[in-house]
Amino acid sequence: MKLLIALQNCDNRIRDTEKKKDQCPIKMASLDEEVNKAELALGQAKEKLEAIKKERRQVERDIDDLEVKKKKSQAKLSTVSSNKEYRAALKEIEELDRAKGLLEDKALELMDQVEQFEQEIKLSTKELEALKKKTDEEKRTIKGEMGELDALLSTLIQERDEICRQIDRDLLSRYDMLRERRGGVAVSPVISGVCQTCHMGIPPQKFNELIRGDVLMSCPNCQRIIYWGEDEKLKAANESGEKES
Ligand SMILES: [Zn+2]
Repeated sequence: MKLLIALQNCDNRIRDTEKKKDQCPIKMASLDEEVNKAELALGQAKEKLEAIKKERRQVERDIDDLEVKKKKSQAKLSTVSSNKEYRAALKEIEELDRAKGLLEDKALELMDQVEQFEQEIKLSTKELEALKKKTDEEKRTIKGEMGELDALLSTLIQERDEICRQIDRDLLSRYDMLRERRGGVAVSPVISGVCQTCHMGIPPQKFNELIRGDVLMSCPNCQRIIYWGEDEKLKAANESGEKES
């Protein structure tokens, strides 16, 4: 029975170690994703900045065009012959000034936006560098952990082999079958007449039999191999197994 308990402890530790190991690539992928997201956001901000700069250049060109038109209208002023034509030319200049004023406001607004975006991009670039550095460090740590978990796994598998060698073949295949079919748990303690894995009560007569510990017994509900969990000798075996993990 002690060997079975030790085997179950060993299997639990193998399962926990494998679970931890499986988490490692998931953690690494989520770190990579964080960096990718930040890179994408920075790329989008840079594109936006280019678009604003392009718009600003267009506005500047439009202002220059208006300036040329205004000069033409001003030249016209000196050549007009009637008052009516003179007023029309003045009105044209007025309109051009108004349009130019609007464009100049727009140009200023765009310049502010360029400055703002340039600041943001500068900050985001710094943040991205810091994030990359942090992520690289974290990934190195995870790789180290994976190596440790691999080493632990091979030790545990060796330990398991040694325990298995000491267990009767038929009992071992019963254990393996139960473990496979019962969610990885083949051996269960019974405390105060209750199976600690399926939480069902054991008939009192059976429980007394279990306390005597003469034969190997199964839980009538979940069929797992059971032992009396309050037995000091077995408790010690279980705890020493747990302490190692
Ligand atoms: Zn049970």
